[in-house]
Amino acid sequence: MFDSLSSKLSGVFSGLSRRGRLSEGDVAEAMREVRMAMLEADVALPVVRDFVDKVRERAVGQEILESISPGQAVAKIVNDALIEALGGAGAATLNLSAAPPVAILMVGLQGSGKTTTTGKLGLRLSSRERKRVLLASLDVQRPAAQLQLQQLAERVGVTSLPILPGQSPQEITRRAMKTARQEGYDIVVLDTAGRLSIDEALMQEVREIREIAGPAETLLVVDAMTGQDAVNTAQHFNEAVGVTGVVMSRMDGDARGGAALSMKAMTGAPIKFVGMGEKPEALEEFYPERVAGRILGLGDIAGLVEKASETLDQEESERVAKKMLAGKFDLDDYASQIRQIGKLGSVSNILGMLPGAGKLKEKLGDRDLDTAIFKRHQAIISSMTKAERKTPAIIKASRKKRIAAGSGTTVQEINKMLKQFDDMSTMMKRLNKMGLAGMKQMLSG
Ligand code: GDP
Repeated sequence: MFDSLSSKLSGVFSGLSRRGRLSEGDVAEAMREVRMAMLEADVALPVVRDFVDKVRERAVGQEILESISPGQAVAKIVNDALIEALGGAGAATLNLSAAPPVAILMVGLQGSGKTTTTGKLGLRLSSRERKRVLLASLDVQRPAAQLQLQQLAERVGVTSLPILPGQSPQEITRRAMKTARQEGYDIVVLDTAGRLSIDEALMQEVREIREIAGPAETLLVVDAMTGQDAVNTAQHFNEAVGVTGVVMSRMDGDARGGAALSMKAMTGAPIKFVGMGEKPEALEEFYPERVAGRILGLGDIAGLVEKASETLDQEESERVAKKMLAGKFDLDDYASQIRQIGKLGSVSNILGMLPGAGKLKEKLGDRDLDTAIFKRHQAIISSMTKAERKTPAIIKASRKKRIAAGSGTTVQEINKMLKQFDDMSTMMKRLNKMGLAGMKQMLSG
């Protein structure tokens, strides 16, 4: 997500900052490049125009041509404009302040990720916000839909409304709200039926359900991979039923990102959450300032730290970090690192949150970004003896054969892993010597 836009914009600004002073022509040229990059990323044309005009106006108004580092000054203006386009600083949170039970209506086209998101939201609200949550599927069109939500609810440990065959969506809604009132639920998440395309019957159904439930939020789920279609869908839904927020699913894919940048301006509805994977935990709040930072290659350290502190075992991380610094990193520590990284999600996602990662990613390509490799490494390490894990140098041919048989891998794979571990150890020693300055150089070089 945003990879191509990010590397193009970073290119524009590093070009600018290499110059001491900027002429008006330099700025005009940079703006042409920004415009191209945004159009290529599938940002809606009116949004691009507005964006470039705003940046140009501010750049001239602030007399950046006179400033000490004009390249950075332009980057700052672009950063601010990106944040605005994405919906303004701070996450757009859910409005849950009404008297319970508060209803949240989930709408969207079939296949957008609506049911998955309903489950994710149920998990989030119950585990993080400690709410008593009831999930209900109103999808009587697809026979398996209600069952799908029920299974999802079980998986995330949230209650779902018992399925009564033959009820209409309106009847299910009444039953859900009544059950919530009687049994003291805080929140009811209603998963409406999707359609392959927008039709009037669907909109009418949603309007009737809205009448009955009186939802505090109507969240539209759109698939980020569909680009401008996601924005069109949002415009239609917003006109027909009114939308209070958008959840953009499949942001973990390689969508070009234009939809996220166009959504607020084209529909007025802010993006409230993004789906970052198929797992129930893969739902994140949408912070425009962090996303802007990622687009400009400034990284999203705040997001990374937050994610790390939520998912990682702090003590274990510190213990391993100490051993790394002392140059005593062994295969047990490596296995522990792999486990921690696995908890954070895909390696590409993590890399995307680091400053300058665009370049690093380009260098690495898709090589070794695959978590499957880590899983195999884990299997290899767990087939080793304690002594082997402590002192990998003792692993010679016969031991390799035994480990390969034990882990269902090959001797070649073991050689590769040991080589990689060796490289890593060498790299760590070098990093230790270089310190932070050296690391920066490596990232920018
Ligand atoms: P619905 O028809 O709108 O209810 O769509 P589903 O919730 O059944 O999702 C359709 C498919 O998209 C399923 O295979 C989901 O696992 C997948 N999916 C949903 N959200 C995401 C996401 O954020 N990332 C990825 N990679 N897949 C997702």
